[in-house]
Amino acid sequence: MSVTAQSVQAQSAGGEQELTDGFHLIIEALKLNGLNTIYCVPGIPITDLARLAQASGMRVISFRHEQNAGNAAAIAGFLTRKPGICLTVSAPGFLNGLTALANATTNCFPMILISGSSEREIVDLQQGDYEEMDQLAIAKPLCKAAYRILRAEDIGIGVARAIRSAVSGRPGGVYLDIPAKLLSQVIDAELGRKSLVKVIDPAPAQIPAKEAVDRALNLLRQAKRPLIILGKGAAYAQADDAIRDLVEKSGIPFLPMSMAKGILPDTHPQCAGAARSLVLKESDVVMLIGARLNWLLSHGKGKTWGDAPKKFIQIDIEPREMDSNVEIAAPIVGDIESCVSRLLEGMGNDWPNPPEEWIKTVNAKKEENIAKMAPRLRNNSVPMDFHAALGALRTVIKERPDTILVNEGANTLDLARGIIDIHKPRKRLDVGTWGVMGIGTGFAIAAAIETGNRVLAVVGDSAFGFSGMEIETICRYNLPVCVVVFNNNGIYRGTEVNPSGGPDPAITVFVKDARYDKMMEAFGGVGVHATTPDELKRAVEEALDSGKPTLINAAIDPAAGSESGRIGNLNPQSLLKKK
Ligand code: ADP
Ligand code: MG
Repeated sequence: MSVTAQSVQAQSAGGEQELTDGFHLIIEALKLNGLNTIYCVPGIPITDLARLAQASGMRVISFRHEQNAGNAAAIAGFLTRKPGICLTVSAPGFLNGLTALANATTNCFPMILISGSSEREIVDLQQGDYEEMDQLAIAKPLCKAAYRILRAEDIGIGVARAIRSAVSGRPGGVYLDIPAKLLSQVIDAELGRKSLVKVIDPAPAQIPAKEAVDRALNLLRQAKRPLIILGKGAAYAQADDAIRDLVEKSGIPFLPMSMAKGILPDTHPQCAGAARSLVLKESDVVMLIGARLNWLLSHGKGKTWGDAPKKFIQIDIEPREMDSNVEIAAPIVGDIESCVSRLLEGMGNDWPNPPEEWIKTVNAKKEENIAKMAPRLRNNSVPMDFHAALGALRTVIKERPDTILVNEGANTLDLARGIIDIHKPRKRLDVGTWGVMGIGTGFAIAAAIETGNRVLAVVGDSAFGFSGMEIETICRYNLPVCVVVFNNNGIYRGTEVNPSGGPDPAITVFVKDARYDKMMEAFGGVGVHATTPDELKRAVEEALDSGKPTLINAAIDPAAGSESGRIGNLNPQSLLKKK
């Protein structure tokens, strides 16, 4: 097939009628809606679709595995508030992408997984087509919405529905099924052009009711020990100024969830990150802004939250989120920008500061914890432990606050979250609601593509393994990504031995002293082996200053690290386990 950038493809036999086809209509429907980047793995039946998209001027990023392309699309959605587009082949490629689509939906990231599929007539009779699978049925329960387009003249409306479904209300993942036959369907070009839809106001403002705002303000005004919790919904909303005004005007301590770090800097005087346990236990009125009371917040009850009676105010665009785990005393349903602006208006100009007693208690705890941590971050012993290595990276990020930090692993994740301060909004991307491993390189690639900023991916050696092959993609597109592999020779630790005494390695250990940096060199990137915090710091600085694709193998003490990082309590314990 010839590759052209125009929508006009073919002439009918008489030479009169201008024609177009499914390929071109999909590309034009996306472009018309400002969707100009596709994350994909090419193959049957979508290779020409990706090829034509590139020819038409779209940015097409070709990955090595669909899950990574899907993760890239998901985080592109989070960063831009437009659905990230992932394009996959049928059946197995679709299934690989589906994990990312489900993860995006769980995290409330807007994305559209477009997948080619085999012939409906054969699939539906289960006659054994090439890559036969009823993809629409399989996708449906795992995403926010799922559609199939069967006629070329429906492409415009199909893409419009997908976009609106992804970004309106609570954002999420949408599946769009495109059977191979649709792509080559030919229709009249004028009819095709007319069938395209530019979605007007895809994520309309949702204004909260005045009573809801007043109810919340009344509660907040009476609070003795108020707390604001910012979640990644607040980061997504890009209402940074309004949120900062609300926090500062109220004088209330705030706690950022991991991907909400940086909406206000972690170094802000009201940030209670270093006093997390205390504020969760002791607070009496808690205002949640774009954060859910799920497992990451111990469901709003139990030991973590203490015995003192607590009342919750919750701002969320999804009405059904209210009372999901505990009673919400003051639900405010609406988009965060609108809700926070209404709260600010309602607060007027003489809003009282929270009781001084409370602020003093929080600050004292903060100072105590920060002082306790400080020497561990400066520890220069070899082999490095997590704290020493992260202490070095903390300084690098402080000096380069526009860098986007991608973070996954167990100990690498849990410790980095606490140690590396984030100074600007949406500069920390991590494993999110599921705590899933494998997002690292996909997120890093999309972060570089979508923002043009430097990206630092700090990943455990185990986490890296799930998506490590994409370092080839990083090199191929020459992206300013520096991957630091925290290599402690295994999952959690590198010291476990096979309890049976047999010759196989224990289940959590990897090849000892592996050199992940050599992988990067294989693709023409920069590989560095770092054994001290100073070496690590210098190598990362060089990578971020040069923008060259770099992988640093940071040799971490194999004995450092605890089982499952900070969530070891989620492991069921066998009563019969041999000591
Ligand atoms: P975290 O894990 O950081 O606590 P969650 O993903 O649990 O964050 O919660 C994010 C919440 O934000 C979701 O309940 C989602 O419905 C909500 N949300 C996302 N975007 C908006 C928005 N623009 N306005 C209001 N709520 C939003
Ligand atoms: Mg490890």
